[in-house]
Amino acid sequence: MKTHDMHQGDDQRPTPPERRLRVAEVRAVRHLTPHMKRITIGSDALEAFPVSRPAQWVKLFVPTPDSERPNGRAYTIRAFHERKAEMDIDFVLHGDGPCSLWAEQADVGDVIQIAGPRGSFRLDPDLRHLLIGGDETALPAIGAIIEALPAGLTVEAFIEIPDPTDAQILRSRADVRITWLPRHGMPAGVGTALQDAVTATRLPETASAVWFAAEAGAARSVRRHFQLDCGLEPRRIQASGYWKKGETDFRDRGGDS
Ligand SMILES: Cc1cc2nc3c(=O)[nH]c(=O)nc-3n(C[C@H](O)[C@H](O)[C@H](O)COP(=O)(O)OP(=O)(O)OC[C@H]3O[C@@H](n4cnc5c(N)ncnc54)[C@H](O)[C@@H]3O)c2cc1C
Repeated sequence: MKTHDMHQGDDQRPTPPERRLRVAEVRAVRHLTPHMKRITIGSDALEAFPVSRPAQWVKLFVPTPDSERPNGRAYTIRAFHERKAEMDIDFVLHGDGPCSLWAEQADVGDVIQIAGPRGSFRLDPDLRHLLIGGDETALPAIGAIIEALPAGLTVEAFIEIPDPTDAQILRSRADVRITWLPRHGMPAGVGTALQDAVTATRLPETASAVWFAAEAGAARSVRRHFQLDCGLEPRRIQASGYWKKGETDFRDRGGDS
C-alpha cells in the first residue's frame, strides 16, 4: 500500500506533528478476550513515529458509511513494533459508536487514519507505591504501564471488566497485585465497584501516586477523593475520563490524558 501524510485544513500553516494525519492499514486482527479485539495497524508513514513511553495514545479516524468525515477517537498504543512500523491497538467491543462498530468488522487491508502520538505515563524517580484503577478501556494503558514498571515498586491495581473471561495476564518486574472486578452482565458506567475499591485503598503518605482512567463520572470522583479527602498533591494524581455514558466522542477537559 502506498501511504502518505495528510494535512488537515486548507491554510498553509504547518500542522503540528501530533496532529498530522497518517494513512495506515490493518495488518492483523484477533480476539484477545470476548469483549476486546487486538488490531495491528501498520504503515510506512509510521516509521520514526515517536513512541517511547507507556500509555501514549493516538487519535484514530475510521471511515463511516453515513458521513463524509471520518470519526476520530482516542486509543492507546498497547505496543509499538518499531522495526515493522506497526502498532497494536486493543478495542473494547462495547456495541455502539463508529470506532467500536468499525473494530467489530475490521479486516486485514482496511484503511484508517491516525494522528498522534500524545500523552503517556511518566514515572517519578522517587515513586515507590502506585495505585492503579481503570475499566476495560484503560486496560491497554494499564497493561503497558505495568509491563514498563521497574522492580522495587509496589503496585495495587483494580481493573473493571465485563466478565471474568475478559481478564488478561499482565507481567511486570514490579511487585503488582491485581484485583479484577467483573460486572457480570451489568452495563458499563453504572456501578460504583471500581471507584469504591480504589478510594477505599490507603496509600502510604510519601512516594505514592494514583493513575486512574474509566468512565468520566468515576474519574471525577476518584480525582476529588485523592485531592480533597486525602490531600495528595495534584501532580501525584492522574485521573482521566476515557468515555462518558450517553455521550458520543467525549473529551475530558478536566482530565489528565
Ligand atoms: C487517552 C484515551 C485512551 C483510550 N484508549 C482506549 C483503548 O485503548 N481501547 C478502547 O477500547 N478505548 C479506549 N479509549 C476510550 C474510547 O476512546 C471511547 O470508548 C470512545 O468513546 C470509543 O468511540 P466509539 O466510536 O466506539 O463510541 P462513541 O461514538 O464515542 O460513543 C457512542 C456511545 O457509546 C458509549 N460508549 C463509549 N465507550 C464505551 C464503553 N467503553 N463502554 C460502554 N459504552 C461506551 C458512549 O457513552 C455513547 O453513548 C480511550 C480514551 C482516551 C481518552
